[in-house]
Amino acid sequence: MKEVVVLGAGYAGLKTVVLLQKKLKNNIHITLVNRNSYHYEATDLHETAAGTQSASRISYPISDVINPQITTFIQDEVVKIDSEKKTVKLAGHEELLHYDYCVLGLGFVSETFGIPGVKENAFPMTNVKEALAIYDHIIAKMKDYRTTHNPKDLHIIICGGGFTGIELAGALVDARPSYAKIAGVSPDEIKITIIEASTRLMPMFSEDLADYGVDLVKNLGVQLLDGSRISKIEPEKVSYRHADEEEQSMTAGTIIWTTGVSGNPLMEECGFNAKRGRVLVTDHLTDPQHDDIYIIGDVAAVMPPDGKRPYPTTAQIALAMADYTAEDIVSRIKTGKHEEKPFTYKSLGTVASVGNTHGFGEAMGHELRGYLASVMKKIIADRSLMETGGIKELLSKGRFDLYH
Ligand code: FAD
Ligand code: NAD
Repeated sequence: MKEVVVLGAGYAGLKTVVLLQKKLKNNIHITLVNRNSYHYEATDLHETAAGTQSASRISYPISDVINPQITTFIQDEVVKIDSEKKTVKLAGHEELLHYDYCVLGLGFVSETFGIPGVKENAFPMTNVKEALAIYDHIIAKMKDYRTTHNPKDLHIIICGGGFTGIELAGALVDARPSYAKIAGVSPDEIKITIIEASTRLMPMFSEDLADYGVDLVKNLGVQLLDGSRISKIEPEKVSYRHADEEEQSMTAGTIIWTTGVSGNPLMEECGFNAKRGRVLVTDHLTDPQHDDIYIIGDVAAVMPPDGKRPYPTTAQIALAMADYTAEDIVSRIKTGKHEEKPFTYKSLGTVASVGNTHGFGEAMGHELRGYLASVMKKIIADRSLMETGGIKELLSKGRFDLYH
């Protein structure tokens, strides 16, 4: 009997478990560890932060997809992986976990780039608790406005205009009428600003498509300060520099930090050869120093054939890595050998939503704009729900509001 320990029940970890349960009924026991009792769709966090989707709508109990005859689920915090002794230490359990194979899928954290005041004065948005904290704060600020009448309370600044920042802005626009009602103002008095360092947003898209996305957001009334690098965050104040100009600042009751992510810092803390929490993995998605440890999802860096820069970390590649990892573990348990073919990845495309009914992106070689892009984004999310959560989660949490 082989013991497989899977750490993290995000896209990468949970799909690996679900596939292993399907592919191997004997000769395997799986232990899955996750800090929460639920899995959440991280791709929808901006909607929970804005309040357009509840936390329960973007998450489901891990127990729903666990086969207790094969898998033991432990809700706890992973604190140490000892790759020499092949053990895992958890915060709330005395006994160490021992493994034959370990799958690390511990996901992403917010990247501050060491900018002063970020941790203290800006809200990260990397998990459900953080998304809910943002929502609660926005609502509190809207309520405050009724007594303060200070426009600052109605202002939300998004730091970083990557995909996360753009999608968050779209969701906030959708939620603006409900905020306005709470504050007792008209929706256009709720100000949303994105401050972005680059002058060319979303560089992976053609200039035409990226400009379309930027215009989409701007036409919804979002202010975009591009070419503006944030240098400091103080309470309710963001300082930034535009090109060689003097430092400027802007105040807001809510400051949200979306300038990028890194892999879980536990990777470095446990001695893996990681850069910003990501390990450059082998062709079989294992740690170059430890062939019994798979590193997948946002804690992994996978180099495309051109060898220039690792693929961007996305749910899509995390799910593809889970597919491969499950196949490879099955092969090793059955034959003692790795899969013959190395891991390869072909992106199906990238689509960003702007609110519930708009979006832009490219899929299967085609550029998509507007309503069609929004539909595609929901279909992609539904497919992922179905593949990991099964029909029950698809029917209860899927997005079927395709016609507007
Ligand atoms: P995660 O989803 O982060 O899962 C990691 C899991 O590990 C979590 O359940 C966490 O609780 C658990 N965990 C972490 N540390 C510990 C610990 N010490 N002990 C126990 N458990 C722990 N990608 C796309 O492909 N398409 C999109 O449209 C898209 N939209 C996005 C929108 C937003 C707002 C954001 C923030 C990201 C988006 N992404 C998108 C990126 C995508 O969400 C990530 O790439 C993906 O979540 C990575 O999956 P993962 O399984 O590696 O990690
Ligand atoms: P990102 O790194 O893609 O974007 C961060 C943005 O912040 C960049 O545009 C960068 O120029 C800007 N920035 C960095 N430092 C700054 C500073 N000091 N001042 C101002 N701006 C600054 O990060 P993200 O948007 O959080 O995305 C993280 C990952 O998740 C990416 O791989 C992305 O592809 C993926 N993602 C995908 C989707 C989607 O497919 N729809 C949605 C969200 C996230």
